[in-house]
Amino acid sequence: MPISLQTEVRMVKGVGPQRAELLAKRGIFTLEDLLNYLPFRYEDRIHFSKIKDVQPGGTYTLRARVMSGQAVRGMYGRDAIYHLLVQDDSGSLPCKFFHGGYLEGRLQCGQQLILHGKVEIDKLRPARREMVNPQIEVLSSEEVDSTEMGRIVPIYEAIGTFGSRMIRRSIYSTLQNLDQTIPDVLPPGLRERLGYPTRREALIHTHFPAAGESLEALNLFRSPAQQRLIFEEFFLYQLSMALGRKAVRKENAIAFRVREDKMREALKRILPFKPTGAQKRVLGEIVADLEKSAPMNRLLQGDVGSGKTIVAMQAAVIAMENGCQAALMAPTEILAVQHYLSARRILAPGGYAVELLISGLKPAEKAAARERIRAGEARMVIGTHALIEDEVKFERLGFVAIDEQHRFGVLQRKRLMDKASKTGFAPHVLVLTATPIPRTLSLTLYGDLDVSVLDELPPGRTPIETRMTTEKHLPGVWELLRREVAAGHQAYIVYPVIEESKLELKAAMEEYERLSRTVFPQMKVGLLHGRMSSEEKDDVMQRFRKNELQILVATTVIEVGVDVPNATMMVIEHAERFGLAQLHQLRGRIGRGAQKSHCILVTPGRLTDDGRKRLETMVRTTNGFEIAETDLLIRGPGEFFGTRQSGELGFHVANPLRDRELLETARKEAFRMVEDPAEKESLRQMLRMLPPQWQRRYHLARIG
Ligand code: ADP
Ligand code: MG
Repeated sequence: MPISLQTEVRMVKGVGPQRAELLAKRGIFTLEDLLNYLPFRYEDRIHFSKIKDVQPGGTYTLRARVMSGQAVRGMYGRDAIYHLLVQDDSGSLPCKFFHGGYLEGRLQCGQQLILHGKVEIDKLRPARREMVNPQIEVLSSEEVDSTEMGRIVPIYEAIGTFGSRMIRRSIYSTLQNLDQTIPDVLPPGLRERLGYPTRREALIHTHFPAAGESLEALNLFRSPAQQRLIFEEFFLYQLSMALGRKAVRKENAIAFRVREDKMREALKRILPFKPTGAQKRVLGEIVADLEKSAPMNRLLQGDVGSGKTIVAMQAAVIAMENGCQAALMAPTEILAVQHYLSARRILAPGGYAVELLISGLKPAEKAAARERIRAGEARMVIGTHALIEDEVKFERLGFVAIDEQHRFGVLQRKRLMDKASKTGFAPHVLVLTATPIPRTLSLTLYGDLDVSVLDELPPGRTPIETRMTTEKHLPGVWELLRREVAAGHQAYIVYPVIEESKLELKAAMEEYERLSRTVFPQMKVGLLHGRMSSEEKDDVMQRFRKNELQILVATTVIEVGVDVPNATMMVIEHAERFGLAQLHQLRGRIGRGAQKSHCILVTPGRLTDDGRKRLETMVRTTNGFEIAETDLLIRGPGEFFGTRQSGELGFHVANPLRDRELLETARKEAFRMVEDPAEKESLRQMLRMLPPQWQRRYHLARIG
């Protein structure tokens, strides 16, 4: 039967309906998806290492025979360690598999294995070497085919029970049967100029490298075939940025009048303090955009507490003074309410009507708010994603600010912009983000936005002192906390989950009970977590803001933007469970006033290498950009963006950090192609040829 790229993956020999379901969970539905599932490393199975040559600290690929194997159970029967002894013609080597119970009975004496892993010194017997948690493949005696021996062999990350070898075989047979039907997506002129192979060649050689290719280059994703696939992903992504930017540029916006005395006074009136140099500079950049008849499309990056909100309020005042409405969208209700309260404080004296629109409002209140927005009585509208619901209509929306944009997708941004359609103009857009995006990545993520940076904190902040400690020392931590509260300050105690889970994490709720009863009986303790209704959350936040609660026990709902300058202490329990970006966001809740603040990171004691690195980074620095760069190095970009971006970024091969240079080339080429009138026809042709799921993946469908 002829197969095409669109053929369902269950048609592949060895896959079948059950495995197809596993694959579907990974987004692999068709043969094309399968071919895009690339090896994460390669093994040289021509030149194996000899057991006698392996050294502690090195990583090796061995071909050896099973001598013996045995699982040793841990105390609760869970943590079985599987001990394996293997031998080649130069010697023998013990191997150890943590959580290796599943291997029991799977390996037989005399079987041939390929082992790949790191060799370490046996901690109990320092004279002995052992291989720890190697990846193994059993060589079946009947058919040792050319895909897995005597060449550089691709290794895939297993998908459930669909192991590396089965994936390899499925891909091999798919490539054999498809052969001629893999179309190229890069324009031929561009591909030839850059010297890249065709897509078909690139896929074949990425999965099954030709003889003589460098193992090192392959493992660094530097082979010509891999580079071509990486370039392609970046190119299409940047093409979508370039086209999006061009489309926005073509739209008209209302050019605001700014340089008038009246405006200067209006702006001054809302400023309760002297702006920092960075705030002045950034406002200048924003003003220059707002005066143009092309819509502003600007990202405002600034570390937590750098004062982004007031800058956004100033831009909103400019819009309102020009007869337009302004909107501010926040990612959570807590934040929206907080912005609403401070906006009212700042804007009400100037006579600007501020409106709050969140899902938590009663239906009648919500309807009334919508009506005021529609009629234009509400001038500054603050809310959550409730703002982009269809029922919300603005009378004359001219300026949009979006706080903490990483929580919203590009499409949501677009929907808010569309709320200005009644004016016949596109609104000016300012995106605020406190996630410090490493400069290396901001091009990838925000290539369609201009960027302003607030790189100066308002004066009078005392640096936060951060320490790591273990649960044993909690009594001392609580003592420090009592002293802080006795001095009139407030504190956060943060937990990773709400309810007791199998992982035996302390749960915010239970700890709240315990802490308020037995540890701090003389203080007012509040609880804040994500499963509370928005009214309850609001109420707790209000009381904390007013210092009616001295201690707030919370989950990560307090993560972004919560602003209580009197809070000077944060204790984060199970700190090792949090990501670096999250820890940084959390810590940003303290150190907002003139008092010295303390952040205590509490762990059970034992830490993974990555966990330790994360916490040490937190102790070492409070610089968000430095933290973000470290985070990226520890986790890699896939994890860094996490699920929140994967839908938008979802690179299969490309790694914006590792492949920085290719990203820049791709960006240049994509923007050149979009700007160059001579390329118009080949661009159109290319977009027409692009398969539908590619169009969706790179948001290229809307253009064409
Ligand atoms: P961000 O949104 O960037 O995290 P905010 O706008 O919430 O920061 O500002 C943090 C705190 O600093 C707020 O309490 C705000 O009132 C205050 N602030 C902002 N700008 C200044 C300034 N120029 N001088 C003094 N305080 C400021
Ligand atoms: Mg903020």
